[in-house]
Amino acid sequence: MSDVSRVQWTIIARTAPQPWLGCNRCGEARRFRSSERIRVNANGKRVDAWLIYRCTSCGDTWNRPILERQPVRTIEPDFLMSLHASEPALTRRLAFDVAGLRRSAGRIEEFDDALVIEKVLSERTAPTRRLEILCSVPEPVGLRVDRLLARELRLPRSRIHGLAEAGDLVVFPQGSHLRRTVRDGMRLVLVNL
Ligand SMILES: [Zn+2]
Repeated sequence: MSDVSRVQWTIIARTAPQPWLGCNRCGEARRFRSSERIRVNANGKRVDAWLIYRCTSCGDTWNRPILERQPVRTIEPDFLMSLHASEPALTRRLAFDVAGLRRSAGRIEEFDDALVIEKVLSERTAPTRRLEILCSVPEPVGLRVDRLLARELRLPRSRIHGLAEAGDLVVFPQGSHLRRTVRDGMRLVLVNL
């Protein structure tokens, strides 16, 4: 008999991070969105590649460097083919690579719209008093832990914070904060439900 219920939440970000950049056409800072297109320029033995972003107001483009003057012999042929084809899996991975984006753009906006897919890992055989949620986050998402819990458990956010203050909600790894964004491998434990 178990009074523990364990579930896995796979949290899939819907909107890739968007850099704020000075737009030449608008004449001020605007949000730019990935167009999911890659431009490749092979010049002799070297390759440049950019992920094309577009201004969300006027459509003007910004080329985010992916490869810069990279010797063609050092590039994995499959990767080069994916670049030429603007393969959706690759453009998605690049668009969600916040660290990579940060190297080219200063201010970046992240979004909290995400799809949560629940998978039950252990069935409840008695009235559940403890719920463990394992978080799987394939790409970084700007969704805070308290907002995620409030939304999925249909509780007000103040209640989520109340549970944490009472020790009835613990977030692992220890020291993780409810107001921080949810990370891959986080474990949320609720007791005395
Ligand atoms: Zn613009």
